[in-house]
Amino acid sequence: MSKFDVSGKVAIVTGGNVGIGVNIAQTLLQEGCSVVTCSRRDYDSPPAAEGVSDAAGRIVHMTCDVREPEQIEAVVQRAVNEFGRLDILVNNAGGSPGADTSTASPRFFASIIAINLTGVMVFSQKANEIMQKQEEGGTIVNIASVAGLQAAPFMAAYGAAKAGVINVTRTNAVEWGPKVRVNCIAPGLIWTDAASFLAPTEEARAAVSASIPLRRIGEVQEISDVVHFLASPASRYISGETIVVDGGGRLRGGG
Ligand code: NDP
Repeated sequence: MSKFDVSGKVAIVTGGNVGIGVNIAQTLLQEGCSVVTCSRRDYDSPPAAEGVSDAAGRIVHMTCDVREPEQIEAVVQRAVNEFGRLDILVNNAGGSPGADTSTASPRFFASIIAINLTGVMVFSQKANEIMQKQEEGGTIVNIASVAGLQAAPFMAAYGAAKAGVINVTRTNAVEWGPKVRVNCIAPGLIWTDAASFLAPTEEARAAVSASIPLRRIGEVQEISDVVHFLASPASRYISGETIVVDGGGRLRGGG
């Protein structure tokens, strides 16, 4: 059996219907997982993975606002009721509009931190409850950002929340091992509709690419491949870590 084998596992991917999240959900489906996606928006049909003939039976979507603990509980219970267990949680839901830190309201700060940090903590707590009772435990992968590792101008609450995610990854890894491994990915700029405002023109994209050692903006699959690795036995002795996936951009202050 491949050390990267995750077939038969049950995964939750928060924010799993657009952008990075939908690619993570599709990748896990292709690798043989059953997947529960969730986000505030409802969808008529969950995303199907190319080449996965029985995807319809292995993926469900639920509406859930990660600021609402009862809704988080319902998603975790659905995974267990529908597929019998919970092996992988990917805390991907998140994001923030830009805002001037000198004038943004306390309500705005609180909402961004609730989505990007508290939601991750509560989702992880509920998943851990299930995983601790399973013989094989489970694994949690948090999606933070390079904004959590450096200054985040006009995204102060977001940067602070993502820094919190990196820290809580370490704490959860210490508290919940050996049954549950907890790791984190800090992406640089990854090309999604949501992130396109950061490089809106051809010229801006060229400038960003030139600032990155690998000379290009990242692709969603490049995050999913690291999620796959962290969810698989190939990473079995890694816990509490954050892997930066940014083409080396942070090293030169880009990304
Ligand atoms: P998208 O905006 O495309 O996707 C964000 C997802 O999160 C959507 O599915 C959205 O669904 C969901 N979401 C947002 N708020 C909530 C909420 N309150 N409750 C439940 N779900 C919510 O963003 P990306 O795909 O670009 O980013 C995905 C993750 O990667 C985010 O955590 C982001 O911070 C991180 N990241 C992205 C980078 C990039 O360059 N793209 C760089 C660094 C980090 P809905 O609106 O329906 O709720």
